[in-house]
Amino acid sequence: MSNRIQRVRHEIKRRELQVAKVEHLAPDYVSVTFKGETLHDFVSSSYDDHVKFMLGDEVRRDFTPRSYDNVAGELTIEFALHASGAASDWARQAAVGQTAVIAGPRGSMIIPMDYDWHVLAGDASALPAIRRRLEELPREARVQVLVAADSASALPFRGEAQVQVQRLDSQEALLAAIRALQLPAGEGFFWFAGEAALAAQVRDAVFVDKGHPRDAARISAYWKQGASGHHEDL
Ligand SMILES: Cc1cc2nc3c(=O)[nH]c(=O)nc-3n(C[C@H](O)[C@H](O)[C@H](O)COP(=O)(O)OP(=O)(O)OC[C@H]3O[C@@H](n4cnc5c(N)ncnc54)[C@H](O)[C@@H]3O)c2cc1C
Repeated sequence: MSNRIQRVRHEIKRRELQVAKVEHLAPDYVSVTFKGETLHDFVSSSYDDHVKFMLGDEVRRDFTPRSYDNVAGELTIEFALHASGAASDWARQAAVGQTAVIAGPRGSMIIPMDYDWHVLAGDASALPAIRRRLEELPREARVQVLVAADSASALPFRGEAQVQVQRLDSQEALLAAIRALQLPAGEGFFWFAGEAALAAQVRDAVFVDKGHPRDAARISAYWKQGASGHHEDL
């Protein structure tokens, strides 16, 4: 099978923004909409993209552009709140009128929509990407969603695709469900994001145990237990 993923590069721009709206969608999950004229040429071509959220000169954290509107000059990011961390602490107290700085995305991996099936799996940090992808996929897309996202698991999934959802109540249960998953026949794409050790086990389950082709999957560590600002070279 040929690799059908298209990589595109974007000019990296630093954008200064103001918080325009804050919505606590679940006890551990906050949606923040930023506004700024500099967003008129913001581009994010894939649900798998990330922007750098800059907290001072030193601290940068990766977040998914959940949605954006160039005409309105708006960008929404959804933050999964956890016990403590610069970005999570910021999001917990975010209020309209505050300023923020983002940079990027510096590139996108455009994953075709026309696979025979899609799997989207992960924890609360993956939920913005999963929710965005479901809104982008067409009516004929067949999708299996597996999430373990604490209080945010209850959030609705919108979009036209045919979706089966498994909501799991722990990382262990998520891994077990992925291991037990029968991948459908045909050409499919497997996407996962979550904690680093779990991502490594998911890679084994998908590539080794199931023999799924590596060029039809993206299995990313979005954070690492006990490490600040972890990111793979995505
Ligand atoms: C490409 C990409 C896209 C991402 N998109 C999003 C997104 O849209 N929304 C989102 O919420 N996150 C997203 N993440 C994950 C986010 O970047 C990390 O969770 C980040 O570490 C949070 O920074 P922090 O300053 O809050 O915590 P840090 O200072 O990085 O970490 C502090 C402590 O908290 C722990 N920790 C970090 N993140 C989590 C977590 N999610 N759950 C539990 N414990 C954690 C760490 O292990 C550490 O012990 C994305 C990551 C990548 C690589």
